[in-house]
Amino acid sequence: MGLLDNQRGLVFGIANDRSIACHIAKSLIGEGATCGFAHLPGEKNERRVRKALDGIGVAEPWLLPCDVSSDDDIDATFAATKERFDTIDFLVHSLAFADRTYLKAGKFPETPRDVFAQALDISAYSLIALANRAKEMMPKGGSIIGMTYYGSEKAIPGYNVMGVAKAALEASMRYLAADLGEHGIRVNTVSAGPLKTLSSMAVGGIDEIFNWVSQKSPLRRNIEAGEVGKTAVYLLSDLSSGVTGENIYVDAGYSIVGL
Ligand code: NAD
Repeated sequence: MGLLDNQRGLVFGIANDRSIACHIAKSLIGEGATCGFAHLPGEKNERRVRKALDGIGVAEPWLLPCDVSSDDDIDATFAATKERFDTIDFLVHSLAFADRTYLKAGKFPETPRDVFAQALDISAYSLIALANRAKEMMPKGGSIIGMTYYGSEKAIPGYNVMGVAKAALEASMRYLAADLGEHGIRVNTVSAGPLKTLSSMAVGGIDEIFNWVSQKSPLRRNIEAGEVGKTAVYLLSDLSSGVTGENIYVDAGYSIVGL
């Protein structure tokens, strides 16, 4: 018996085997869930996603190419999902993008308008766009999660416009939770401590952040991606049936430390 037996849903955001979404998928599948995997289009991307999924035992994944900055792509993804699953129970939003040129300490004031707009569109608006389509496929309710980081609340050197996008993502999560609650749909975010992935490597000074967290967090270590996967199982399963509009920290306690 798994906590997610007979549950079906979409996982957005696997790029490779390090992706948080890949670790989340592994945990969900381990609890009996069936997933479709939406990924950035492109042959090379698809190859890497297949390889990552093969590594967690998914030999024949159902892949959905989807650039979340395109409404047409999003609509096509949900149309295909409707055909295949009819209804879904969960959605995982584990994706973000910002031009790395501006993810360097001291560079935030130089953020151009188009870089700001793109970061907010892909990293935050997409949660709203996906949740709105998911709602139509969750007649009996469901659970939606997004991934965020502490740089939404505090100024972390180098996180810059991504911090602004994460603040927007978290606020969007709360408004979605407020409006979708009456449909039995819960929406939450997980604020993960730093993990080595393609995206985090684009943030200038990330190695210093890892060192700092391992010295200063209450648990005196960095987190493991599997710990985010376990929290995803909690949030997407009945274990968290009374929880919505929350941001849950999986950060070895780092966010509670004042000095
Ligand atoms: P990752 O690079 O493996 O994943 C980011 C994903 O975003 C990739 O799969 C990429 O293809 C996808 N993406 C980017 N632009 C897209 C678009 N236009 N359409 C569709 N997909 C697009 O890195 P990750 O660290 O696993 O990031 C996953 C999530 O976790 C992100 O929201 C990230 O901000 C968040 N997060 C990461 C960390 C960390 O330290 N790695 C910490 C906290 C939160």
